[in-house]
Amino acid sequence: MRDAMRDARVGDDVFGDDPTVSELEQRGAELLGKDAALFLPSGTMANQVAVRVHTRPGDEVLLDEGCHVYRFEQGGLAALHGVQAVPLPGERGVVPLVRLKSAIRPDDAHMPRTRLVVLENTHNLSGGSVLPREHLAEVRAFADAHGLVLHMDGARLANAAAACKTDLATLAAAAHTTTLCLSKGLGAPVGSLLAGPADFVRSARRARKLLGGGMRQAGILAAAGLLALGSDWRERMERDHSLACTLAARCAQLQGVQVIAPDTNLVVIEVQGALIPRVLESLRASGVLAVGFGSQRIRFALHRDVDATSVAAAESALATALAKESH
Ligand SMILES: *Cc1c(COP(=O)(O)O)cnc(C)c1O
Repeated sequence: MRDAMRDARVGDDVFGDDPTVSELEQRGAELLGKDAALFLPSGTMANQVAVRVHTRPGDEVLLDEGCHVYRFEQGGLAALHGVQAVPLPGERGVVPLVRLKSAIRPDDAHMPRTRLVVLENTHNLSGGSVLPREHLAEVRAFADAHGLVLHMDGARLANAAAACKTDLATLAAAAHTTTLCLSKGLGAPVGSLLAGPADFVRSARRARKLLGGGMRQAGILAAAGLLALGSDWRERMERDHSLACTLAARCAQLQGVQVIAPDTNLVVIEVQGALIPRVLESLRASGVLAVGFGSQRIRFALHRDVDATSVAAAESALATALAKESH
């Protein structure tokens, strides 16, 4: 990947003439089954640009209360776009349709205008769970029936597609617009794609510039993205998912550890009676990086650079860390 980055053909993408960025955007659009795609520095910017284009100040966005757009983007809906979030309780990223329906505002001069629905697939906070395909279809039908736009935070859509044994375009078809992070399990150092109809992507290109995301010789980064989206992407996701199952099974054997059975590449464990920051510190000292998910949970992520040996090392580092905690 470093070699490909060094050798990339570049131009100035702010003028639209970086051939490697254009190639990546074209490949992204094809894979996601949309008219066009845009390369951005991050998944956060991709979501925020989408919200910017889909809404006007005062509009409301319906979303699951655990989703990234609501929880982990610094309140960008309000801070950047003057848009009001309507966080709804969901189960593994699925907000029941009746709850979505009852959140829609009537046409009334007192009320905000309901405009956008956001789904996240896979759902990070639930441990990379895959949204059921029927749910995608029913939310799209709901959006169409009420004149709403459906945006998918598809940071890990490649994991969802591999788990569903389908292609990215099939899953993305339910949404008007979708993101895809090249920098998660797909393994590029930087970058996300935002895909949708041609006029949407034209507006998104303007909004990206506004938010400071216009990049010049970005082909150096896009070259890594092209490898991340290489023809072997599905096999790589499947390998990560199988390693996640292995790690989950091993963690489940440890005393005091509850495991959320992984759908994809994320393994979330719940540890009672241990101080999570101390466990993470001990893991880090053994060369295992993981993140805390609330006060009792830890999330491990499987990706391109983690193999079976690392999984075994992670399990034994966790056993050591927990043994220290129980003393
Ligand atoms: C990581 C992530 C993002 C944002 O991606 P960044 O590139 O880190 O800004 C958005 N949505 C989900 C679900 C994510 O996991």
